[in-house]
Amino acid sequence: MVRNVMEFFRNLPPKKCAECGDNIEEQHECYGIVCDRCLRHVSE
Ligand SMILES: [Zn+2]
Repeated sequence: MVRNVMEFFRNLPPKKCAECGDNIEEQHECYGIVCDRCLRHVSE
């Protein structure tokens, strides 16, 4: 069971910013689709 979960996450593709296409760090998962830089741009 545990090994299957590990492989599931390992096989997930990195999230990419919907604005610039950069990979998104997992810590930004709550915002989902844009990176930190674009997030600031959007909030202006
Ligand atoms: Zn971006």
